[in-house]
Amino acid sequence: FARPLFADLAGDIDVSFEFFPPKTEKMNQALWQSIETLAPLAPKFVSVTYGAGGSTRDRTHATVARIARETPLTAAAHLTCVDASRGEIDDVAREYWDAGVRHIVALRGDPPRQGERFAAHPDGYDCAASLVEGLKKVADFEISVAAYPEVHPESGDARACLDNLKRKIDAGASQAISQFFFAPETFLRFRDAAAAHGIDTPIVPGILPVSNFAQTKTFAAMNGADLPGWLERLFEGLDDLQDARKLVAATVAAELCRRLYAGGVRQFHFYTLNRAELSYAICHMLGLRAGASPVPARLESAAA
Ligand code: FAD
Repeated sequence: FARPLFADLAGDIDVSFEFFPPKTEKMNQALWQSIETLAPLAPKFVSVTYGAGGSTRDRTHATVARIARETPLTAAAHLTCVDASRGEIDDVAREYWDAGVRHIVALRGDPPRQGERFAAHPDGYDCAASLVEGLKKVADFEISVAAYPEVHPESGDARACLDNLKRKIDAGASQAISQFFFAPETFLRFRDAAAAHGIDTPIVPGILPVSNFAQTKTFAAMNGADLPGWLERLFEGLDDLQDARKLVAATVAAELCRRLYAGGVRQFHFYTLNRAELSYAICHMLGLRAGASPVPARLESAAA
């Protein structure tokens, strides 16, 4: 009972960090600074999200290729089925393989306009499972897929959602990364239900350190994640107090990770939103220490 709260966290964990492709030069600098800050924590991989529209996609490709080329980190590219034929997607995947990228986060993607139903391209992949199958034919990629502890909004129920996750694993994915959530038991129950459903690959919790509550509310509305009242109350009155918001965010996320760790979780995926500080602090509280992988000079120059 008297044990200090974080005493058991020995740093025996793997972490990965997710970024989004920057739109402006200023955002580009912030991204590379974040990568530089987080790299010494020796993440298992870092991934870059994929949006709708040509220029966004080019930015994902450029960012992933640059990470693969200029840093010692393992880069993973998110790829979706939205608005592209199978041939076009396969070509993108081939370019990644040629650029040395071996890990794809394979997703169906959301409809380009919020509120619409997903409609597959007439010659496209219709869901993530068929994308995984197609990618495996292009090359022997390591593939991660999405998992939903609180059920994907288009799945009829939890069972249908697990059936779909199993299809993705059977098609060749080697792990799943979860949508964010705020109750540890939600994830732990989901993990156990997945195992009982015959899913024996790792399911990595996706951790969203919340420092902007309004933005998180928008994300949660899109993907059906439960946003607890206590979380909203924690951020009440902090709109103009950025530092206080960060402290609250780190405390909430570290406590979530601590409880997941107690439940046996040893791998964590952080939605960094291209900001290093919070994810770094949480990893530190989990016992991870910088130094395992020193930042080489070429990464420092990439951030310049
Ligand atoms: P799928 O696994 O194909 O599932 C979509 C829906 O269809 C589910 O409800 C599923 O149950 C149902 N379904 C599929 N196949 C069948 C079938 N045969 N029979 C019945 N039902 C079926 N979005 C982006 O646009 N870019 C990103 O970079 C991105 N990164 C993400 C990273 C993570 C870790 C996560 C969790 C989500 C990410 N998303 C991203 C969001 C994701 O694209 C959406 O959640 C999308 O709505 C579903 O994608 P999926 O890959 O889970 O789809």
